Amino acid sequence: MPHVNARVCSLNRGRYIVLFLSVEKLKDNYQVIVIGGGAAGLMAAGQAALSGARTLLLEKMPQPGRKVRITGKGRCNLTNVCELAAFIARFGPNGRFLRQAFGKFFSHDLVAFLGEIGVETITERGGRVFPATELAGDVVDAMLKWVTESGVHLHERSKVTRLPTDENRVVGVELSQGKSDSRQFYADTVIVATGGASYPATGSSGDGYRLAEQVGHHVIEARPALVPLETSDNTAERLQGLALKNVAVRLLVNGRKQYDETGEMMFTHFGLSGPIILTLSRRAVDGLRENHTVVVSIDLKPALDERKLDARLLRDIQTHGRRQFLSLLKGLLPVKLIPVCTDLVGISGDKPANQISAEERKRLRAWLKDFRFTVTGHRPFAEAIITAGGVSTKEIDPRTMASRLVPGLYFAGEVIDIDGDTGGYNLQAAFSTGWLAGNAAAKQALAG
Ligand SMILES: Cc1cc2nc3c(=O)[nH]c(=O)nc-3n(C[C@H](O)[C@H](O)[C@H](O)COP(=O)(O)OP(=O)(O)OC[C@H]3O[C@@H](n4cnc5c(N)ncnc54)[C@H](O)[C@@H]3O)c2cc1C
Repeated sequence: MPHVNARVCSLNRGRYIVLFLSVEKLKDNYQVIVIGGGAAGLMAAGQAALSGARTLLLEKMPQPGRKVRITGKGRCNLTNVCELAAFIARFGPNGRFLRQAFGKFFSHDLVAFLGEIGVETITERGGRVFPATELAGDVVDAMLKWVTESGVHLHERSKVTRLPTDENRVVGVELSQGKSDSRQFYADTVIVATGGASYPATGSSGDGYRLAEQVGHHVIEARPALVPLETSDNTAERLQGLALKNVAVRLLVNGRKQYDETGEMMFTHFGLSGPIILTLSRRAVDGLRENHTVVVSIDLKPALDERKLDARLLRDIQTHGRRQFLSLLKGLLPVKLIPVCTDLVGISGDKPANQISAEERKRLRAWLKDFRFTVTGHRPFAEAIITAGGVSTKEIDPRTMASRLVPGLYFAGEVIDIDGDTGGYNLQAAFSTGWLAGNAAAKQALAG
């Protein structure tokens, strides 16, 4: 359809007009338009062009892939090699929506695809896959080269502000070019791959939610996820910079355990951060929004149960009875934690170890297994690795990523209401949904 210089527009039932387009308009006519040049958009555009569709990729920033360049602390944790069921479980209840996309294009497909475009990968602890060069920029550069070689027309500094429709069918995109000026491109299909609302300086600032709502989609409210947490008193601040490895952390919402995980965390001037804190943050944010009491409990000695821990404390006290409590703690805790421990447990640091009572030992034991922080808030979108919420999965066909409401419209990536844990899951979701949307949109457009 877009290769002929005419568009048929229905006026009302049974009556049609044929619009003859100028040569200029023909240039603006595509089979697939992809909005957003992030992980999902680059993949979608390349796939659509390779399928033979005349494809336009619109990116509002000066270059595509800004967010991908900062992923994995600049190393880009591309995906994870864990098996499908475990992968899907990392997305919580909405993970099921991704089953079909992963069925078509999963981690091994991504690794093979990247190899073909010149990005070798390595797999690290926890099944996490990175580019062998450990440079996220290499992934973006290789994908950009692939996209252009596949025939995609790329327009940078092009911000889409509206999705024009004709009788509810999407017919293209509108770009704003200053206060009163706007420009339209026409297409049979449009893929919204504008990302979430986190790290807005990268270009992902929630535009896709507004575009989706304009054409009648329901957007689940966006919330920061994989985000550091703020805590009530100055304890975290006193421990600022301290990272703890191999601690077990429990999240309690209104006193009930919501989540637990063992791993690494750290203290900051405002509260808690680090991998396991980020992982439980989505549940903490939701608990706060519902005005529940949210508490993070840290087990500093997860390898020792209460009995073994008590035996260890008794042994230390008996062996070093004349030493001060402070000195005893040096064998148990990082130095920075010691003054916090003496304050919170209420045992004076200069007390000789052999004068510590059974009651005091019990308090110490309880604190070591249950070091608590009341969560009062979370850091903003600007510091959230991902956005929870987005275009409702109920309104998207998981087999194609096509809108169930607006013919010709597709979604891919973080703009959809899906969010996963750290470990490479989110980029894989963006690549897989982008792959599916790109192929499905091209197929629809080529079928005419
Ligand atoms: C600091 C950080 C580290 C991360 N590390 C990892 C990691 O190691 N592994 C992992 O799996 N995930 C990681 N993530 C998450 C991952 O980056 C995202 O989930 C992924 O990039 C989402 O891809 P996307 O294509 O949907 O969106 P994005 O990559 O955000 O791309 C969206 C694009 O759309 C463009 N755009 C937006 N609105 C418009 C508009 N109106 N018109 C035109 N263009 C528009 C934006 O400029 C942007 O380029 C990280 C995120 C952050 C912030």
